[in-house]
Amino acid sequence: SNLMPHPGRSIQLLPGPTPVPERILAAMCRDVLDHRGPVFQELGLSVLKEMQTVFRTKDPVIIYASSGTGAWEAAIVNTLSPGDRVLTIEGGHFAAMWTGMARDFGLIPDVIPTDWRTGPDPQKIAEHLAKDKEHAIKAVFVVHNETSTGVRGAIAKVREAMDAVGHPALLMVDAVSSLAGMDYRHDEWGVDVSVSGSQKGLMLPPGLAFTAISERARAATETAKMPRYYWSWTKMLAQNKEGYFPFTPATGLLHGLAESIAMLKEEGFDNVFARHERNAEAVRRAVCAWGLDVWCLDPESYSPAVTAVGMPEGHDATAFRKLVYERFDVALAMGLGKLAGKVFRIGHLGSVNDVTLLGGLTAIERALAIAKVPHSSGGVAAAMDYLG
Ligand code: PLP
Repeated sequence: SNLMPHPGRSIQLLPGPTPVPERILAAMCRDVLDHRGPVFQELGLSVLKEMQTVFRTKDPVIIYASSGTGAWEAAIVNTLSPGDRVLTIEGGHFAAMWTGMARDFGLIPDVIPTDWRTGPDPQKIAEHLAKDKEHAIKAVFVVHNETSTGVRGAIAKVREAMDAVGHPALLMVDAVSSLAGMDYRHDEWGVDVSVSGSQKGLMLPPGLAFTAISERARAATETAKMPRYYWSWTKMLAQNKEGYFPFTPATGLLHGLAESIAMLKEEGFDNVFARHERNAEAVRRAVCAWGLDVWCLDPESYSPAVTAVGMPEGHDATAFRKLVYERFDVALAMGLGKLAGKVFRIGHLGSVNDVTLLGGLTAIERALAIAKVPHSSGGVAAAMDYLG
């Protein structure tokens, strides 16, 4: 490799994978358990139950050895049949992926586009569903926190819109980059399927995916005709009752998950969410002081997990990200899909403290000067003033 060696710790300001705390790393360094034995059973029962608290649900939560995308595929194959219509709100790159996945499975997506700078519009959703008098649309796909744009959608309002027109479609929510980093309420918001992953707010390495499943969604499995085997909720739920899994679970990651949940509970979920809001505000103050654009246009929708920053005309965000990485060993996220080259993204999700954040912002401020990107200095100072 022609990368320079980087002594010291690197800083990762990504909206996933996020930094893994030492406590979690240590918790994972264990003998691999017999996953049909009593010690595993106790761990299984415990993490399955605790994850209900994390999703704020009484519905069962299942855990796959996969990344978040696997749980999405599972949501589709367990509830839908080829030829079904679904409504997708295409607010960014990840939402667009779900539309693509729906097509690949032979579903027929109706797409409500957005400008990728504001959240899903409940009014448009209501109008669209109201036109579907025969209830041909079987599911609505919404991304809670659109990681590619730094826009958080109002899931409760999407549910209200669906209820206002009395549409029975299942509400399926991508909570991959929101769960455990910001308020999420599977039950209260009337979500049928909530999907998440381990490498974001839960501060774990990648490799686990989570799904909270409502009674209506579980009932849909009885008529859904998509083929499924590994992803079958039924197989999973049957064995989970006893704390076991139908296939070999990722035991090491489950040990880490138990520790992650313990850490979140020690800090308190409300404090965790407040810390993320505070991180996000500090970053936005830096971006504004630099004179760059916070990509999300609606302050109500600012993401507590990630801030996308618009690059001034004539400057390539991808090259800038590379400079920050090579010169300072700070990882930022790139622009995805149609935002490639146009934005870079600063993640402030998971186990991130003030010095980590300020270290990353310092690297960005220096790199803006090195790359001769038009800006004002003072972003780091503005963030520091805010953090106090
Ligand atoms: N959805 C969102 C909102 C994401 O941020 C990501 C990953 O960054 C995914 C889905 C895909 O998840 P995974 O990469 O874990 O499969």
